[in-house]
Amino acid sequence: MTFQELTQSIYINGSWEPIDTDQVETIYNPATLEEITKVAYGGADETKRAIKAATDAFPLWSEMTGRERGKVLYKAHELMMERVDYLAEVLTTEQGKPLAEAKGEVTSAAQFLLWYAEEASRAYGEVIPSATKGKRMLVIPQPVGVVGAITPWNFPSSMITRKLGPALAAGCTAVLKPAPETPLSAIEIFKIFAEAGMPKGVINLVTGDAKAIGQTLLESKDVKMITFTGSTAVGKYLMRESANHVKKISLELGGHAPIIVYDDADIDKATSMSLASKFRNNGQTCVCANRIYVHENIIDEFTTMLKEKVNKLKVGSGLDANSDIGPLINEQAIAKVKSQLEDAASKGGEIVTGGNAIEGAGHFFEPTIVAGATDEMVMMNEETFGPLMPIQTFTDEDAVIAKANDTDYGLAAYVFTENLSKAVRTAERLEYGLVGVNEIALAAPEAPFGGIKQSGVGKEGGHHGMDEFLEKKYVAIGIDEK
Ligand code: NAP
Repeated sequence: MTFQELTQSIYINGSWEPIDTDQVETIYNPATLEEITKVAYGGADETKRAIKAATDAFPLWSEMTGRERGKVLYKAHELMMERVDYLAEVLTTEQGKPLAEAKGEVTSAAQFLLWYAEEASRAYGEVIPSATKGKRMLVIPQPVGVVGAITPWNFPSSMITRKLGPALAAGCTAVLKPAPETPLSAIEIFKIFAEAGMPKGVINLVTGDAKAIGQTLLESKDVKMITFTGSTAVGKYLMRESANHVKKISLELGGHAPIIVYDDADIDKATSMSLASKFRNNGQTCVCANRIYVHENIIDEFTTMLKEKVNKLKVGSGLDANSDIGPLINEQAIAKVKSQLEDAASKGGEIVTGGNAIEGAGHFFEPTIVAGATDEMVMMNEETFGPLMPIQTFTDEDAVIAKANDTDYGLAAYVFTENLSKAVRTAERLEYGLVGVNEIALAAPEAPFGGIKQSGVGKEGGHHGMDEFLEKKYVAIGIDEK
């Protein structure tokens, strides 16, 4: 099969099938705006066939032992690691992030497969001591069934394995809809799964019309669970619609992460980590710093050091080894950054560095710091998803924690301090699913990742991530005691 034939097909029941319509979607490189390829634009019919394949494959896959399922996941992990350079190049070409970051993401994606390959053998149940004689009580974990998985473009590789890894380990089968901007990483991952010996129908890939695919997944009684990563608005819609069949749901949604830097923080560490948190993936990360609160006593030193470091960042094509920051995903992303910046400037914000879109092909924007941020500014209340870093000063611990919590989002928050008591107090009082203390790298295959409030429900990663895909069946056994 040529690459073009492959991308214009969908993966159903173990084979790449050309779609029934002649509709295709063009995929562009956000660094050059050049066409990369065309991808199949599937809809309701393709999704129904994919659901049927996943439903038919469920008995076989769910009845295999965890060890047998783990072997397929382990092989897929090995193949991903063998191809890490190629997969990173595909990811950078369609998504834009620098190659080093893309390689890090593919490695992390493969690590999820490795971890869940091992975890597949560890879906433990429980034996409950009965309060009455003549009874034995068991809790048996069993896979939920067919899962509909929907992923975003900002992590085109790791968001897929973070869902499919635990789902498959648990014994579920799946239909995946990747983001329209970044289907190529998904196609490569499915090629790998096929080579790794995944039985036909266990995983199915439908690219195309989000609404039609989503609606078909939601309306099908055979789909027992929806797992989604993306915006809070779409997450709420999926949650509402899932109610019709009372489907299980796991949602990883938007964030609006605060960083609190106390005056006893290691400023070198706090500036480097704030920079890494904000500008990784060009600010297009759900857990990235969206607003920085810095203690008044250290604001000058912090801002000067941060500015020096930010000014060294090189913006350019992710395929260029010298680039630290790639393009934004599309024109709307640039427009959002511009509009938040204009709003901040009109309300007295001071641009410390950056502030401009970069002329030429590609969606490039300078990494930007805004000092004097106030609570009224849009960027202090909404997810930016771009390279804009607002800084506000504070003096009081209680007041800054209250501000950090004053949002409907609850995904990630960070605190920098060398004072252990202050670190523990703050971490415990922050209303977030994830808290970094002198640390910004939060995602790991072995740890539960997920938001609270309107940032989501459920966890991905760790044994908690596999629990999402398991029902706990209670079996009561009456026996004749001697
Ligand atoms: P999005 O617009 O919500 O899209 C996410 C996915 O949902 C895409 O594949 C999209 O396809 C699909 N979709 C949209 N409407 C749908 C519908 N009615 N039915 C079914 N699928 C539908 O989000 P995004 O802009 O791609 O991603 C950025 C957002 O994701 C940010 O808010 C970010 O914070 C969040 N995110 C969260 C996490 C986390 O772990 N909490 C991780 C990464 C990203 P179309 O584009 O074709 O509509």
